[in-house]
Amino acid sequence: MDFGFRKEEADLIKEVRAFIREEVTPELVEETHELGAVFGGPEARKFIKKLAAKGWLTPAWPREYGGLDASEMITYMIRDEMAYAELPLYFVAAYNAGPMILRDGSEEMKREFLPPIARGEIEFALGYTEPQAGSDLAALNIRAEDRGDHFLLNGQKTFNTHTHVADYHWLAARTNFDGPKHKGISIMIVDLKSPGITIRPLITMAGWRTNEVYYDDVIVPKKNLMGEKNRGFYYLMGALDFERMFPPSAYKKLFEEIVDYARETIVNGQPLSKDPLIRQRLAQMAIELEASRLLYYQLAYMLDKEMIPNYQSSMEKVFATEVAQRICNTGMEVLGLYGQLKKGDKWAPLAGKVEFFYRSSVVETIYAGTSEIQRNIIAERGLGLPRG
Ligand SMILES: Cc1cc2nc3c(=O)[nH]c(=O)nc-3n(C[C@H](O)[C@H](O)[C@H](O)COP(=O)(O)OP(=O)(O)OC[C@H]3O[C@@H](n4cnc5c(N)ncnc54)[C@H](O)[C@@H]3O)c2cc1C
Repeated sequence: MDFGFRKEEADLIKEVRAFIREEVTPELVEETHELGAVFGGPEARKFIKKLAAKGWLTPAWPREYGGLDASEMITYMIRDEMAYAELPLYFVAAYNAGPMILRDGSEEMKREFLPPIARGEIEFALGYTEPQAGSDLAALNIRAEDRGDHFLLNGQKTFNTHTHVADYHWLAARTNFDGPKHKGISIMIVDLKSPGITIRPLITMAGWRTNEVYYDDVIVPKKNLMGEKNRGFYYLMGALDFERMFPPSAYKKLFEEIVDYARETIVNGQPLSKDPLIRQRLAQMAIELEASRLLYYQLAYMLDKEMIPNYQSSMEKVFATEVAQRICNTGMEVLGLYGQLKKGDKWAPLAGKVEFFYRSSVVETIYAGTSEIQRNIIAERGLGLPRG
C-alpha cells in the first residue's frame, strides 16, 4: 500500500501553496471566519475567481464543463491546503450540487450551470432543512405545485446557511403529496433573487450566520428541475455523501499553534511542553489528526476508482468534526483560563482563536447530519445492522 503522493501531485501542492501565500489577504481570512468558512463573501469571490482560473476549483470535472480532467485526489489535496490556510471550505455548487448535476442533470442544465460554477462566478446554498424536517429529511413539505411550464413554491426552510451570500438555492421541495414521503421530493435550482423569497438571519453560537428562508408564491421555471421529478431524495442523498467530507487540516494549523504555545509558554519555571499530561494530550491529537487525514484521502481514492463513498463519508465526517472538538478542548486546557478570552481582547492568547474555534467546532457536528445520524448510517450501511 502506497501512502505517499505522486511526484506531479507533490509538485502541484507546492504550486498551490505558493499561490495561496501570494494571494491570501488578512481581510479574506477575517471574512472566512465571520462566514463560518462558507463561500460567497466579496473577498472570497475575488480570490476564488483567480484560483478557478487555474482550474483548481473543480479540477476533476471534464474540460468541456470547466475542469482539468484531473483526479479527485488533486481536488482533495487543494481543498486541504485551503483549509490549512483558513480559506472558504464549503462550496455547495462546486462540491455538492455540481457533481450531482454532472451525473444526473440534463445537458441544458450542465451547460447553463457547470461552466460558471467552475469559474467561481456563482455559488449555491443548500436548501434541505425545514422546522419539522432535519434528521428526517423525507418529512420536508415546502410545496412545489406543477403549473405546466413552471412550479409554484410556498413554504419555509430553516438553517439554510449560504442563502444570504449565494446566487441560487439548491432546493428540495415536495412535488407529490401522496404515497411514500421520500418518493415525492424533487430538487430544483432557484434564483435567490426571485420575487417572493425572504431571507432572515439566525445567528449560531459560533457567531456566524445561518438563515430562515420563506417562499411565498415563488415561480421556478421547469428547466430548473434537476433530473427527474420526484427523484429528488435520491439526488439529495448523493449530494449529502459529497458534503460529508471535512478537510482535516481545517484544525491542523490551530493544533500546531497550540503545540507552539506549549513549547514557548513558561509556567512555574518550566515550559508547558514538559508537563506530562499536556504532552500526552498533544500526542493523542497528533495521532487523531493523522487518522483523520487517512479517512479523508480514502474518500478521494474511492472516487478515483469510481466507487461512491457512503458510510465512509459518514466515518470521515464524524471523526474529523469530533477530533476538531477534542483539539479545541485540548487548546482550552493548555491555555487555561485565558483561553476563554475572545478575539480582540489584548490578553487573549493565540489572538482568541481557540475560543472562536471551540464554539464553531460544536455546530460542525450538527450540520450535514448530526454525529448520531452518521453513526446510524455506519451501523446500517457499514455494518449491516437493522434500522434502529
Ligand atoms: C450551523 C448550521 C448550519 C446548517 N446549514 C444548513 C444548510 O445550509 N442547509 C440545510 O438544509 N440545513 C442546514 N443545517 C441543518 C442541519 O442539517 C440540521 O440541523 C441537522 O440535520 C439536524 O436536524 P435538526 O436540527 O432538525 O435536529 P433533529 O433532527 O430534530 O435532531 C435533534 C437531536 O436528535 C437526534 N436524533 C434525531 N434523529 C435521530 C435518530 N434517528 N437516531 C439518533 N438520534 C437522532 C439528533 O442527532 C439531534 O441530537 C444547518 C445546521 C446548523 C446547526
